[in-house]
Amino acid sequence: MSQESLILHKPGEIEIRQVDRPSIGSNDVLIKVSACGICGTDRHIFHGTYPASLPVSPGHEFAGVIVETGSGVKHAAVGDFITVNPNIWCGHCPSCLQGAPHLCTAMRALGVNLNGGLSSYCVVPEELVYKIAPNVDPLQACLAEPVSCVLHGLDRLQIKAGYRAAVFGGGFIGQLMLQTLRLQGASEVTLIEPQAHKRKVAAELGFQAIDPFAGKSALEELADLDVTVDCAGAGDVLMQCVRATKQGGDILLFAAYPQGRTVSIEPYEIFRKELRVIGSFTYPDTQVRAIRLIEAGAYKLDSILTEIGLEEVEDLLQGKRDEDVIKGVVRMT
Ligand SMILES: [Zn+2]
Ligand SMILES: [Zn+2]
Repeated sequence: MSQESLILHKPGEIEIRQVDRPSIGSNDVLIKVSACGICGTDRHIFHGTYPASLPVSPGHEFAGVIVETGSGVKHAAVGDFITVNPNIWCGHCPSCLQGAPHLCTAMRALGVNLNGGLSSYCVVPEELVYKIAPNVDPLQACLAEPVSCVLHGLDRLQIKAGYRAAVFGGGFIGQLMLQTLRLQGASEVTLIEPQAHKRKVAAELGFQAIDPFAGKSALEELADLDVTVDCAGAGDVLMQCVRATKQGGDILLFAAYPQGRTVSIEPYEIFRKELRVIGSFTYPDTQVRAIRLIEAGAYKLDSILTEIGLEEVEDLLQGKRDEDVIKGVVRMT
């Protein structure tokens, strides 16, 4: 049997074609993919600025229905509606052995090193599937992965109800970050974002949204924040975070800066203000909470998601839809 599959042959070269439906191993399940999100990491993979094993069918944010189980599968069943943790941990490296498997030095990921969700069917090891309520829209269910990442990032901070926060960068992750900060008790959350349509969706949800290039005053007035989050990964945003964060405050570096990129920073400010600059990479254990939040409708996503067809993915990866799409999600058929 064949299936439709989007394949990245090499950086910049994508093809949609019919390929053989994959076969599963004894501890795998076969997923009929319902929906798959396209994210910044996919864009980096497309441009060759994030390490991947090509050719590959990308897509690491996906949900679907189990249609086949291997002989050794015990906890998943045909018909289950599931979300996927795309990260496959080796189980043997120092990180895996010391309770931080998401920092596995031999990690492989579906959609990066193995075929992912931009195919009609995908092979997933049983331990990476998480059930989600069948009434959840697949376009939202597939976002369990990015929500899990955001929850892990904020878990790494010392945050309290009533704190003041700012998020730099209003792409999808930035929008999730705004909403999650509010869910966690922030009384004031500000978005700093140059693109008007991204500010607009945040403002409609009650967030303060400022344009960093519309005169300097608004940006300069941002001060003494308990938490700042860099979801932009561009320009001098990290230094702006350093300036805007209060003494003893936290800076979360959540943007996927291209490998090798350097930025200028004034270390004195980090020293004098005793700031914590905290990185975050994928997640070890937040997917169950992410699923609960999605099932509960905790995130307002209607104005942020755009349903696209498989044939539109390439335009998205090339940045041709940046003016109208914040988050493209493919409903797979
Ligand atoms: Zn992603
Ligand atoms: Zn490992």
